[in-house]
Amino acid sequence: MTDAEQQAASDGRTVDEPTGSSTDASILELRDLEKHFGGITAVDGASFRVERGTITGLIGPNGAGKSTTFNCVTGVHAPDAGSVVFDGEEITGLEPYQVANRGLVRTFQITREFPEMTVLENMMLAPKNQLGESLWRSVTPIVRGGVVDQEVEILERAWETLEFFEIDHLANEYAGTLSGGQRKLLELARALLTGPEMLLLDEPMAGVNPSLEKKLLERVHELKDQGYTFLLVEHDMDVIMNHCDHVIVMHRGSVLAEGAAAEIQSNEAVVEAYLGGEV
Ligand code: ADP
Ligand code: MG
Repeated sequence: MTDAEQQAASDGRTVDEPTGSSTDASILELRDLEKHFGGITAVDGASFRVERGTITGLIGPNGAGKSTTFNCVTGVHAPDAGSVVFDGEEITGLEPYQVANRGLVRTFQITREFPEMTVLENMMLAPKNQLGESLWRSVTPIVRGGVVDQEVEILERAWETLEFFEIDHLANEYAGTLSGGQRKLLELARALLTGPEMLLLDEPMAGVNPSLEKKLLERVHELKDQGYTFLLVEHDMDVIMNHCDHVIVMHRGSVLAEGAAAEIQSNEAVVEAYLGGEV
């Protein structure tokens, strides 16, 4: 037996199976991620893991690098250094649609619906735009006169998803007429339609009224119970404290602290970072 085989055997795997940098428990792993914009270092060696099936919070003062981290993970920006592993596969530097194909989708701080299209039309664009290949693959083809009609299946899924978020009554309204909160629900519905395993939500509660916020959070918990994983950037500390299984704190582009919500709340360095003090 070679050393590698011996090691593999003691780990309970064969040599062909990757040791993987993200374990079964962790679905996403960032290692020493860096992103610079000219002279600005937006992300400065950020490393963390997100455990599968959790709602993990990503917090930190304005400018800490949270949105840039999301952008680097989801292919909006190519990181200057470091790696991103999703579901055991390196996804560093892939295009957004390729990342989405692998089951990792994001929503934006500023929602990106098409205001002059209806809610349903926006939904129908979601899988095509993001090339939700996992969705296309999972679709049972409906054969009509020998033609595989995936549109019908997508339409059904779109309706079901709108119903799930209780915005199906708005299906034929122009997206531009929706309230801020309804837009956030639509954004989440569109993300879900691509058939992801994990969703990155950038400030999903911003501008959302309390009753819609409650609805959105309930849906996130239901989806978590179904096995989805969430990484959530959120400024509302009550949301973070009451809804996240684990919290990661970024400051100046790297991870300052992480732990259970209660631990983070009493962490002195975290409090100081928020107050703008030197840490
Ligand atoms: P957060 O989301 O935590 O508030 P960001 O990731 O948006 O932080 O920003 C981190 C830093 O990077 C800030 O100093 C911000 O001004 C800068 N930054 C973010 N995006 C860009 C960009 N596209 N071009 C130049 N600077 C940027
Ligand atoms: Mg941001």
